[in-house]
Amino acid sequence: MAGKLLVIGFGPGSFEHITDRAREAIGESDMVIGYKTYVELIEGLLTNQQIISTGMTEEVGRAQEAVKQAELGKKVAVISSGDAGVYGMVGLVYEVLVEKKWSRETGVEVEIIPGISAINSCASLLGAPVMHDACTISLSDHLTPWTLIEKRIEAAAQADFVIALYNPKSGRRTRQIAEAQRILLNHRSPDTPVGLVKSAYRDRQHVVMTNLKDMLEYDIGMLTTVMIGNSSTFMYDGLMITPRGYQRKYTLNTTEQVLKPHQRLKKESEPWALEQEEFNPESEIMFSSRDVAEQALDAFGYETKEPSNHSFVQQPLETIFELAVSPGVAKKTFTPKQLLTLAEVVGEAGRIEYTTDHQIKLEIHTSNPEQATERLTAAGFILSPVGDVLTLKACDFCEGEKKDSIPYADTLQEILGGLELPKELKVGFNGCGMACFGAVNEDIGIVFRKGKFDLFLGGKTVGRSAHPGQPVAEGIEPDQLIQVVENIIQEYKEKGHPNERFYKYFKRVKNIQGFQYRDVSPKIEVEPAPCGD
Ligand code: SAH
Repeated sequence: MAGKLLVIGFGPGSFEHITDRAREAIGESDMVIGYKTYVELIEGLLTNQQIISTGMTEEVGRAQEAVKQAELGKKVAVISSGDAGVYGMVGLVYEVLVEKKWSRETGVEVEIIPGISAINSCASLLGAPVMHDACTISLSDHLTPWTLIEKRIEAAAQADFVIALYNPKSGRRTRQIAEAQRILLNHRSPDTPVGLVKSAYRDRQHVVMTNLKDMLEYDIGMLTTVMIGNSSTFMYDGLMITPRGYQRKYTLNTTEQVLKPHQRLKKESEPWALEQEEFNPESEIMFSSRDVAEQALDAFGYETKEPSNHSFVQQPLETIFELAVSPGVAKKTFTPKQLLTLAEVVGEAGRIEYTTDHQIKLEIHTSNPEQATERLTAAGFILSPVGDVLTLKACDFCEGEKKDSIPYADTLQEILGGLELPKELKVGFNGCGMACFGAVNEDIGIVFRKGKFDLFLGGKTVGRSAHPGQPVAEGIEPDQLIQVVENIIQEYKEKGHPNERFYKYFKRVKNIQGFQYRDVSPKIEVEPAPCGD
């Protein structure tokens, strides 16, 4: 009878998380060899196998025994918790075989059955800590010199890996975890999220969410995996979450934002998708995602950064800072100096886009958004956030000739410009009845005529069912205008559904601040447009 070695990872410890093949393999074996605790964990799967269970440190002996029994013709299951290839028995079994000059063709058959390793099982209990480049480091210096382990912690800390520390501490080994913390604190913020998972998916499962500074105040033992976040990892409602990309977007009115899903799905946000290659039109060469990743590392400035002496250094994290600029509410011309400033602030790496809304939208790659805003403001630009915000689109007031209503436009910009809303909203503001800048087509249209204001609500600017707003009031007194518009906006801000455009809101509620919706649009059936309307 031909023997066989079945090297099995049985996962974190619960029956639900053992693979079918691992169960089968245990079932078909004649003999099970493993650490006592592990044999106990899978006891329910045993039928009449012979059991050889030994203590923790007798791993080499277990591997030798397994090989010997397989060569005698037995089917031997060698069991490891998690995955047998992660600080498990596979390597030892092969080492013993190599020593015996075993070959795949003539020697005993070896099958390795993968299991869920602690980095994955523990991650699932913590949230999503391992979304980006991660590594495992075992703190056990039983088979590895501590100087090497130290070097690896240092390197991983410096390279901003998410780190799963295996074998963090035992009864005799208590110093290593404190040393690891010390090294990590040289490179990462004391607030870096840290998850401690003890006995994942076993009876005594215990999860603690803490941070790098406080982690040693909690119980850490032989059955704990210590998960250290990277510089982007954050805690949310008791969960530990590492964003998938580093590039964050800032806009003016919000603090740091993670990329929205559709931005995230762009290729450049996923340097790990290694099959990706792109054509660079400038150099006419293909560059791979590896190049992108290397550029990202360069941007991090790792190569220049010497580990400081025991004090944490904030990484200069580059972000994409998005905003829109205009030369003024009424002013539509740029000075050459302003254009030069734009070019300098945006730089080669950034992007300047002229939008359909007559805005100049900027994407600035920077680790210092404040500096960019200071320079742009000093150059006389009005800065507005982009996204689901209120944008005022005023006309040029016939180059300032029809100036009477300009102060009202200025005030609206000042108090409502950039306000966050359920959906982007444009307020058109035109200085005479000609309304040649098209105010009546915007979500809200304001037209100055004969010393008073006309108001239009619910325009739909784009799409094949585009239509102007409804005229809802004529002759609003100038001193009332701001309050009227502000009330409308506030109501929509509070009661509009997320993503509900203003015209849809108006149609739904039928009455905004006393202004009545009238269903005047003739029923025209419009075929759905292929790219969505
Ligand atoms: N082969 C195993 C690792 C063995 S080393 C695997 O792939 O998971 C032993 C270390 O693994 C422990 O010190 C602990 O850090 C981690 N570990 C294993 N099982 C665990 C569990 N259920 N919960 C938390 N950590 C675990």
